[in-house]
Amino acid sequence: MSKPVSPDLLASGILPFVIDAGAGRKAAIRGRMVRLDGVVDSILDRHQYPPAIAELAAEAMVLASCLSSTMDFDGIFTLQAKGDGAIKTLLADVTSAGAVRGYAAFDDEKGKALEAAPLGCPAPMMDLMGVGHLAFTVDQGKKGRYQGIVPIEAREIKDVALRYFRDSEQIDTALFLAANMEDNNWQASGLLLQRIPATGGTHDEVLPMSDEEADIWHTACALMATLGRDELLANDIEPDILVHRLFHELGVSMLPWRVLRDECRCSPDRVEQVLASLSPEERLEFADDNHQLTISCEFCKTEWSWDASDTAQG
Ligand SMILES: [Zn+2]
Repeated sequence: MSKPVSPDLLASGILPFVIDAGAGRKAAIRGRMVRLDGVVDSILDRHQYPPAIAELAAEAMVLASCLSSTMDFDGIFTLQAKGDGAIKTLLADVTSAGAVRGYAAFDDEKGKALEAAPLGCPAPMMDLMGVGHLAFTVDQGKKGRYQGIVPIEAREIKDVALRYFRDSEQIDTALFLAANMEDNNWQASGLLLQRIPATGGTHDEVLPMSDEEADIWHTACALMATLGRDELLANDIEPDILVHRLFHELGVSMLPWRVLRDECRCSPDRVEQVLASLSPEERLEFADDNHQLTISCEFCKTEWSWDASDTAQG
């Protein structure tokens, strides 16, 4: 069931910004403000998940958008979590061209029990997913693939991701993610700060944090902590105004806004490749009583139908 979306919800994207360092350095901190209301709202509207599951899916899409934009890559950034709880799989991906997708696969019984559950504000990832892990993958096709994995051992997806940055990447990172449904529309935003380590020497070694850098980092984190959830989600405050309001005393510069959109990568060609991998008997087995074989994209819910008896002969 589709519903009208107010125009101010449609501006989804990422505002990259940098916080200045002391003399001799370009920047001390990279920042990302993500506003994903329109994208999250249209994706979740197609799925109609129980609200508690939708909330975690929204946070995952915001997190994937934040992280994808801190990396220089040409391809697909994927966040995928697997667990043994109500949600079995949580997936959000963002291409370097700004196309976002997301979905959650969950246990029918446990999902039904969550229909009336209130939003977690933020979503309790560990309760919803049980024992499992969160993986980040950058896939650049022929140029290579990189993956990082962290166990789900914190209540919120934010803290699971922070643990990854602390233990695996050793990059100081601060994150604030929020999603909320108001008047039947989803709002979803995020703010990320990441310290850019100073490098030097002949091999560009990471230099220990200077006192001045430590001051800048701790001040930025303290300023970020003054931001309220409602303020982060407020779609009547432009992202650049919010970022300026928070960090102006440190010297903050905005970089160009990057548009994100709800866009799937499925196509009839791809679905035909799936069909081609099935034997004629399998095609008939998956078809309905009228020999119609229907394949539906788990991301965008687009459905394609074929006459299985035709394909079986072909
Ligand atoms: Zn699709």
